[in-house]
Amino acid sequence: MAIKFNYQRILNNLIARHFPNLLVWKIKIIEKKIEYKAMVKSYPWGNFIFVNPKVRKNYSINPLKALFLHELCHFEIFRKNGWGWIRINWDYLHYILSKEYNESVEAEVGKMVIKKGYKKQRDLSHKIKLR
Ligand SMILES: [Zn+2]
Repeated sequence: MAIKFNYQRILNNLIARHFPNLLVWKIKIIEKKIEYKAMVKSYPWGNFIFVNPKVRKNYSINPLKALFLHELCHFEIFRKNGWGWIRINWDYLHYILSKEYNESVEAEVGKMVIKKGYKKQRDLSHKIKLR
């Protein structure tokens, strides 16, 4: 049975604690059938983290926090680079077209997650392979 985590509340707490500069980005977290466990998307109308519904059935609280923190690190990189949604979507294209680029981004995010005191989740950005 799926656990009733309040994703938005967990995310807001992580933002307040680890990324106060992202508060103004008003990131919304939404469950959506995607081919990844989780992914970030930026549109003119807002910033989102999409989470595969299978995650809810398979993750306990700490791996879940690490997953959300991972996605927040992607937004933190965008923020540090001063990117708006158009530039973020260019980056997304680059990310899906270049394995070398997405591996370098994921390595950077992995280091950020560890610095924040969470265990790196190596397989996070890969296509979903949950039960
Ligand atoms: Zn990632």
